[in-house]
Amino acid sequence: MLPVADHPLKGKRIFIPPMAYGSAQAFAAAFRAIGLEAEPTPASDDRTRELGARYTSGDECYPAKVTVGDFMKVLERPGADARRVALFMPTAQGPCRFGQYAPYLRQILNANGYADVEILSPTSQNSYDGLGTLAKPFVRTGWRALLCADLLAKLLLMNRPYEERRGDTEAVYEESLADLCRTIEQTPVEPGVQLVALRDSMIRGRDRFRKLGVARREHPLIGIVGEIFCRLNTFSNENLVQCLEGYGAEAWLSDIVEWIWYTNSEQFRKLKLERRQWTLEALGAWVRQKVQKHDEHVLVEPFARDFEGREEPDIFEVLECARPYLPREGAFGEMVLNVGKAVYLARKGVAGIIDISPFTCMNGIVCEAIYPRVSRDLGGIPIRNFYFDGTQSDLDRDLGVYMELARSYRGRARAAIKAS
Ligand code: SF4
Repeated sequence: MLPVADHPLKGKRIFIPPMAYGSAQAFAAAFRAIGLEAEPTPASDDRTRELGARYTSGDECYPAKVTVGDFMKVLERPGADARRVALFMPTAQGPCRFGQYAPYLRQILNANGYADVEILSPTSQNSYDGLGTLAKPFVRTGWRALLCADLLAKLLLMNRPYEERRGDTEAVYEESLADLCRTIEQTPVEPGVQLVALRDSMIRGRDRFRKLGVARREHPLIGIVGEIFCRLNTFSNENLVQCLEGYGAEAWLSDIVEWIWYTNSEQFRKLKLERRQWTLEALGAWVRQKVQKHDEHVLVEPFARDFEGREEPDIFEVLECARPYLPREGAFGEMVLNVGKAVYLARKGVAGIIDISPFTCMNGIVCEAIYPRVSRDLGGIPIRNFYFDGTQSDLDRDLGVYMELARSYRGRARAAIKAS
């Protein structure tokens, strides 16, 4: 039994911001697996924007506004008891504003009568502050939950554009996600037992997708990179991926796990830079990465046939792809990943790349300056930034124009291959 009875979070409900719909569901299930109450914040809507605008100054990035709006919606619900609420706000050290958002949220809550609301920001840097004795089982369960949710999301995007009956893929996805969440929540967190149960759940999900009625056609494949929250949160990006699908495209969307591999590799780079590669900390990081690699191998292996040609790259491959433009030693964060992934996706044969970023996001701005060179080096592949701040008006028209460019690039690339 996990020691939850006296845990400070016992009796509180943890609310998870839905960066990606399925990942938030699975992550909440991971909290429930260790005996805590948790759920994603309710679906974002106009009230989210209204409250986000009311409680922020306007200088923050759009994801902060959406997250604050969703959290305040929870707190304004009739009967909400601030002492029984914990808000999950991830944090990170880095070159951009993201690391400021947990302290900033604290200020907003204190200034508006919600000082009793707890903010939960566990990271390896703060020794998983707030989780205490539950940190160890949670970290592994949470990691596995995110990995599995990414796999289901990939299957959704690979099948939905080709479904024979509208809505079937979403239904299969929902069924598989519910299966995953149930499995996470109801299986003991003993690592070996949990891994077998999750693999079984993934295989059940895979088989549901395999039975779907789909008519495979040659849709242009569009790679999607960008700021992690905005590219994955359909409310923030006005459901760009489905809009693209409406134009006859299939999307290959960068997932959450990519960021975890990147932060791991950055930790090793820094340890080496500081000549601390032979310390206990380095050993711990090495063991954690080994374990994560093993988990990934076990959980991804059943999809070898399904993901043929769509394999996610090792993080070092992405970083090497970025090297001619943004070497990792001189740049940091999502801009490196996005440029590297754009190159990787182009080499895998996508017809175009879209970068989704919040308006004023420095990662998006840096990438936008580099993409013309990337495009030139890769035979003129269309790469376009789409910025979001909740006021986008012509997304549909702009995507229509973009898809014309992508189709024309695909035609030229195929003709060049034939001629060679
Ligand atoms: S990545 Fe961009 S949007 Fe996200 S916190 Fe940093 S600057 Fe803001």
